[in-house]
Amino acid sequence: MHKLAKRLDHFSDSVIRRMTRIANQYQAINLSQGFPDFDPPQALIEALKQAAQQGPHQYEITWGSREFRQLLAKKQQRLMNIEIDPEENILVTCGSTEAMMCAVMTICDPKDKVIIFSPFYENYGADAILSDATPIYVPLKPPTFEFDKQELRQAFEQGAKALILCNPSNPCGKVFTQDELEYISQLAIEFDAYVITDEVYEHIVYPPYQHLYLANFPGMQQRTISCSSLSKTYSITGWRLGYIIADKSIIDGCKMIHDFLTVGAAAPLQKAACAGLALTDDYYAQLTQTYMAKRQLFLQGLDKIGLSYYPPQGAYYVLVDISAFNPFKTDFEFCEWLIKEVGVAAVPGSAFFKHPEYRYIRFHFAKQQQTLIDALERLSKFKEKLLCLKN
Ligand code: GLN
Repeated sequence: MHKLAKRLDHFSDSVIRRMTRIANQYQAINLSQGFPDFDPPQALIEALKQAAQQGPHQYEITWGSREFRQLLAKKQQRLMNIEIDPEENILVTCGSTEAMMCAVMTICDPKDKVIIFSPFYENYGADAILSDATPIYVPLKPPTFEFDKQELRQAFEQGAKALILCNPSNPCGKVFTQDELEYISQLAIEFDAYVITDEVYEHIVYPPYQHLYLANFPGMQQRTISCSSLSKTYSITGWRLGYIIADKSIIDGCKMIHDFLTVGAAAPLQKAACAGLALTDDYYAQLTQTYMAKRQLFLQGLDKIGLSYYPPQGAYYVLVDISAFNPFKTDFEFCEWLIKEVGVAAVPGSAFFKHPEYRYIRFHFAKQQQTLIDALERLSKFKEKLLCLKN
């Protein structure tokens, strides 16, 4: 038999999603893969019922339903402060996962270089590999996750065609500052590079931090491919609805790739999601409040247990430093033990770092208050359980 393709040798399955499978196997509280255990807004559920009765049940326009694109253009135009034509500047995708893959495939030829900040959401490495592009990793340095400006410049000097920017950042919760985004913009313009953003946590930012859209920085509209999704904003990660907003010439390319990758996102779900896109500003303000309360509950719980972490400025993850406690060789073994013996699932931090780094595990707190309380209760016993292990 012929060997399978070589590209399979360069990445593994998703560690995030693997942890969910292990968590399910041991019925652990799953704080690994980031998705809510609460329902989307009632308006979306009602709209979904209606879509089930009235359709559509057949293919939508490949680029996304007209109504969806019109509502999205209206919402994002106001937030991003750029002009968005629903016919020319939007592509609806199957989650931001497809949006990012489609963006990288549209921009990169084989061997093109793509800058990725590390730690990074694990899909980006696979996006680059599947597009035959070569990643250049630039560290966000713990504990504050700032980057060294000189190091970033050197990465651009190597001829990078694009940079991937996850803002707010998964997994570290960093929200990029005005100064950092200006610097990134200047380099992108100077070196004629694109920036592909992943902004799925745009509505989950903790005051006083503020989300700034890179596409709105001077000179950036033509070279920014803004990817995002409805998953986190409306608690519908299983609906797989994402999108790309970019200049017409870029979107035209993305449309071609998308046409043959997936044809289109699910028609009834696009229809139902329009009820979310039509919600007013109060909804987004309430979402922030909800996540502020969850963040506070979870971080206070970690404080009580005596675990140190980087307080997230945005998104719903927290990287916890386990270096003082980990008796195992790797963070993965620690996480397996935590699932089996403590009953809580986390993602080993090494899944997010380019260079071996076993110091962190990542929890998410997109869960109901009671789920978080139960998880903290279980975690409060982890040191005792570790002691038993040693004796
Ligand atoms: N963004 C989520 C996480 O980082 C998972 C997304 C996914 O599995 N597609 O956990």
